[in-house]
Amino acid sequence: MHHRPPSRRSAVSRTLAGSIIAVTLVIGAASALMVMQMRRSAWDQVGRVSQNLLEAVEHMVDRNIELYDLSLQAVVDGLRNPEVDGIAPELRQMILFDRAATANGLGAILALDPQGQAFVDSSAIVPRPLRFPDADFFLVHKQREDADLYIGKPLRMEPDGRWVIPLSRRLTYADGAFAGVVVGTIDIGYFNALFRRLSLGERSRIAFFRDSGELLVRSPPMEGTIGRNLREAAHFPRFFESRAGQFVATGYTEAIEGLFSYSRIGDRALIATVVVPTAAIGSLWRPKAVAIIALVTILCGGMVGLTLVLQRELERRSRAEEQALAANHDLARLAHTDGLTALPNRRHFDEAFSRAREQARGAGGPLSLVLLDADRFKRYNDTYGHLAGDEVLRAVARVLQRQVRGPEEVACRIGGEEFAVLLPGSAGPEAVARAERIRRALARLQIPHVGNEGGIVTLSLGVAEAVPGETGGQCFSAADAALYEAKRQGRNRVVARPGGPAAAQVA
Ligand code: GH3
Ligand code: MG
Ligand code: MG
Repeated sequence: MHHRPPSRRSAVSRTLAGSIIAVTLVIGAASALMVMQMRRSAWDQVGRVSQNLLEAVEHMVDRNIELYDLSLQAVVDGLRNPEVDGIAPELRQMILFDRAATANGLGAILALDPQGQAFVDSSAIVPRPLRFPDADFFLVHKQREDADLYIGKPLRMEPDGRWVIPLSRRLTYADGAFAGVVVGTIDIGYFNALFRRLSLGERSRIAFFRDSGELLVRSPPMEGTIGRNLREAAHFPRFFESRAGQFVATGYTEAIEGLFSYSRIGDRALIATVVVPTAAIGSLWRPKAVAIIALVTILCGGMVGLTLVLQRELERRSRAEEQALAANHDLARLAHTDGLTALPNRRHFDEAFSRAREQARGAGGPLSLVLLDADRFKRYNDTYGHLAGDEVLRAVARVLQRQVRGPEEVACRIGGEEFAVLLPGSAGPEAVARAERIRRALARLQIPHVGNEGGIVTLSLGVAEAVPGETGGQCFSAADAALYEAKRQGRNRVVARPGGPAAAQVA
């Protein structure tokens, strides 16, 4: 079986595979870009919406505190007025506490004396016996003259356990000395109710806390979070990097990673945050990305699969083609080969002879033809049997194969016990010498042949150098005549065509 180098086939295969890999890579890169773009736009969108929401929260909280502060200021102003001191308590209540102070979510307003004892109560004509001498909203005003509106740490109100944010202002005597505090509270539930309507989605959180870290409001509400100090959170310092901003961090009250948007509330010591969990942002783009990736994978997989099928088909065809070619080649070789000796046969000799003659003519070099015939071979068969005769013919073939050189020189079996050797490049005398070497090489084998002169198998050889102008047939006849002459002279010798450099030798 002959195999051609697979260069053409593998080149086609390689080109196919290369282009499909290139196309797959391009599609892959394009979809990766698309997915990245989708992710970025989801994050941008959430970032923008969070910011808008945060602005609404900031405005809402600021406005509520501002409104409530007006009520506190009204109380402060009212108490500063000496005329208010002497009037009937019911009238004083009406003057001190406007209607805003009784609005939804706003708790009672108290005025505390310098010892922290309530002496005016918006919810009762006779003040309830309440004392806050140690509360932060009381102490801050006692210690600092310049303290403005103070937003205190969250408080839990008895008896219902409501959480409230205390807001307080300082009361002063005419000489500026500390005269106590006016304090009111905002219900944290009130903010929760406001924020519930603002929510970005189930998993987003809205909150605000004091600069010092105490969490005031968290929506949705979560047990045990109000009043907790966020200062412990790793990301806490980031809220102070600028007035407003965004960053990604893991939450403190709930260990969930999210996009934090934060902003200072007005110019107060409060910071509002909106947190959207990373997972929630992911759910905006991930399902689409998964669909795209699946689609692209199926597409590219299909493409690669198709290519493989195509490639296999190409290879199959190419292999079949090669096999057909090889079979043809084998047939052609068989048609030119002698079955017994495996030497080229008569047909091959005829073609090789005419090719060699043409080449010799073209190159102007010599060409010699040697014809060989086994001596007394009929008798050999008669003595040793036909099979032994065949074996001798094979031995002759082996000798010839050893004696010819290179691809130009050819030895053929042209008939029963007759052989021919083409010697391009050898002129008469050299061809005679070569023929002589062949003769001796066979004789050296000492194959017994009792019917032959000398008792061993021998060859007679006729040599003819091609002469310009003669036909191939004429050259062949000349070699044949020389062979006949060798037989006539007693066999086991080489004879050259007459006129050429004759040589006849007996072993
Ligand atoms: P010489 O050439 O020396 O004059 O005598 P010869 O006996 O060789 O000549 P001839 O041409 O009369 O006989 C040729 C013999 O070669 C006849 C045949 O038995 C034998 N022969 C031809 N082809 C084959 C073959 O394929 N196998 C065998 N074993 N013998 C063959
Ligand atoms: Mg013969
Ligand atoms: Mg013979």
